[in-house]
Amino acid sequence: GGNELPNRNTRVIAIANQKGGVGKTTTAINLATALAATGERVLVIDMDPQGNASTGFGIGADERGMGSYALMTGEAAAASLVLPTEVPGLLIIPATEDLIGADIEFSQVDSRERLVERALAEPGLAGQFGYVFVDCPPGLGLLTLNALVAASSVLIPLQCEFFALEGISQLTRTIELVRRTLNPRLALEGVVLTMFDRRNNLAQAVAEDVRDYFKQSVFETAIPRNIRVTESPSHGKPVLLYDFRSPGAQAYVSLAAEFLRRQNQETKV
Ligand code: ADP
Ligand code: MG
Repeated sequence: GGNELPNRNTRVIAIANQKGGVGKTTTAINLATALAATGERVLVIDMDPQGNASTGFGIGADERGMGSYALMTGEAAAASLVLPTEVPGLLIIPATEDLIGADIEFSQVDSRERLVERALAEPGLAGQFGYVFVDCPPGLGLLTLNALVAASSVLIPLQCEFFALEGISQLTRTIELVRRTLNPRLALEGVVLTMFDRRNNLAQAVAEDVRDYFKQSVFETAIPRNIRVTESPSHGKPVLLYDFRSPGAQAYVSLAAEFLRRQNQETKV
């Protein structure tokens, strides 16, 4: 169909959860970094106007160029928006504050849900990468919708707290709606438990509920709550570069390994 990527092996993964503060950006940064460390070429697209993924890679507000906003407007070649990071093999299209008004600004644009998909289909962009991670903003507005339409799969970070599953049916309904209408190939990549504290009974109970609900879609690797993960963005570094030995960094290394194992299983089917 018309929405095929130039390199059919490129996997585009939307990291989405309409709740803020659940670990979307942290997972985008560190899963991407851990994959790049295995030799994969990885692109991160920051679609959150807050630009936390861009900041997390040490890219200041004045260094971002036109960023992902120009992916939406189409005013620049998508490949020209890509910037290097400190991580070899890992590139980024940063976010700028221009994205803030996107829902209103693009509300009258034709195929406004397909703007990111269209940009990724440009020759010379997605095909250069094995994996493209799209870090979504909180909410299920036009920016998240664009990510889900452009994606081959969606990865859902869930924080193990009391309200973790509340609102998740809204997200799964949105995913199903996107499948029925705009992107039939959208798969569930999996659910990642974040900020997990294994000594906390409530967190354990919530993790069990999440595994009951999402079954084997939940990654075995849970990301522990770890101070080094919290600190690393303020140093402009993924936790893998900030403190490779920390439990948080090691968890993302394990997550990447599990992620790659699952990719291989998928292609064997
Ligand atoms: P989201 O992108 O979903 O809004 P973030 O990834 O920005 O969530 O995470 C929210 C906050 O929690 C950030 O301050 C981040 O540094 C912190 N955080 C995320 N994961 C961890 C973790 N495993 N351990 C400690 N702090 C974390
Ligand atoms: Mg975020």
